[in-house]
Amino acid sequence: MPAKGVQVAVTADVVVAGGGVIGTAIAWQAAAAGLGVVLADPARGDAASLVAAGMLAPVSEALFGEGALLRVNLLALARFGSFAAELEAATGHRVGVRREGTLAVAYDPDDYAALTRLTAFRRSAGLGAEELDSRACRKLENFLAPDVHGGVLFAGDWSVDNRRYAAALGEAAAAAGVRFVRDRVAEVLSADGRARGVRLADGGDIAAARVVVAAGCWSGQIAGLPAELRTVVRPVKGQLLRLRHPGGMPPVLTHTVRATVRGTDVYLVPRADGEVVVGATQEERGPDRTVTAGAVHDLLRDAMSVLPVTSELVLAETCAGLRPGTPDNGPVVGSAGPFGLDGLLLATGHYRNGILMSPVTADAIVAWLTGQPPAPEWEPFGPGRFAARAAAGGTR
Ligand SMILES: Cc1cc2nc3c(=O)[nH]c(=O)nc-3n(C[C@H](O)[C@H](O)[C@H](O)COP(=O)(O)OP(=O)(O)OC[C@H]3O[C@@H](n4cnc5c(N)ncnc54)[C@H](O)[C@@H]3O)c2cc1C
Repeated sequence: MPAKGVQVAVTADVVVAGGGVIGTAIAWQAAAAGLGVVLADPARGDAASLVAAGMLAPVSEALFGEGALLRVNLLALARFGSFAAELEAATGHRVGVRREGTLAVAYDPDDYAALTRLTAFRRSAGLGAEELDSRACRKLENFLAPDVHGGVLFAGDWSVDNRRYAAALGEAAAAAGVRFVRDRVAEVLSADGRARGVRLADGGDIAAARVVVAAGCWSGQIAGLPAELRTVVRPVKGQLLRLRHPGGMPPVLTHTVRATVRGTDVYLVPRADGEVVVGATQEERGPDRTVTAGAVHDLLRDAMSVLPVTSELVLAETCAGLRPGTPDNGPVVGSAGPFGLDGLLLATGHYRNGILMSPVTADAIVAWLTGQPPAPEWEPFGPGRFAARAAAGGTR
């Protein structure tokens, strides 16, 4: 990898801007399909992909009015197992996929009423849900507080250790021949209505017939994108904690637990290595990534309300990341052709489900790169929908 500031004169079939899980999964799969790929990223350490909880949760993420998103999330889960198996075979590393499902619990009767409404909606969408009383919840998770009112088991959800997964993606991409450049893409270069490559902030140009912008919440900062697309993705801050079991203590959780505690949501995601991830806030604070005492307090208070033994775990890490949010909560995946710029593909805006959607996003982008049709579930999520909105008088 060239150091920052070193001039690079590079040509490639495809240049990918952004090395979170989305850009790296695309780079790996594109190189595996025989394309010459360069991936540019100034500092992968800032990525939301390394902060995330790693839930692969189409069922417990399904919300009223988001049917198209549910369909792409279900496609994503159906692909995740084979993709993770390919990744593990390519690298020899386990990425920590867990398939126990999500146990959603309600702390008080009002919380339970809200969970019941969501469960009815999810069942009407064909998703599996098993309602459980307080005692049955505690049979599944022995350490739950006795005053938990009741819950629902959503067996269709999984999880993955997103840090192991991201590291394995980087390794697989390098082994497949992806060239990494440690620099920021400043601009997409174009001529005659076609993308021709990118200009790096510190290190010259990369000529490429195709450019993929996968820079998470920073995607809109890249010059040369159609103006309508530069305002579509915004950062949505999430603060999150990582807890660890003290030496010798047996695991306190098996399922991912999502709890509503007096109207506030908290989740606890167990890992095979004894880590428990507790998250997350959802804040509209622009690019701010500070961790606040109040958020740590609130997350621990709510986690301890449903799982009192949380207080005995070690507080190993506090962190904050920026989800790439969009006006309709859907990803932005597809060609900028509707804006008169061929050869530019966007793969961003994955908001709360980017880990889950990374394999199917890579499949879709590689389909476009190799002249195949992407899965029909992507049809509602092309960049062109924002051209239509802008023309109709609003971008949000
Ligand atoms: C607290 C929290 C919890 C979450 N939990 C989950 C979860 O449980 N399940 C799930 O599926 N998703 C979850 N997410 C969402 C998920 O993390 C994101 O949707 C996903 O990581 C987005 O991946 P990305 O590669 O698009 O962006 P990122 O991971 O943010 O990566 C973007 C990369 O682009 C690089 N970059 C920026 N600007 C440029 C540029 N100009 N040129 C080149 N590179 C650039 C950055 O350095 C960064 O490495 C969570 C997010 C947060 C914050």
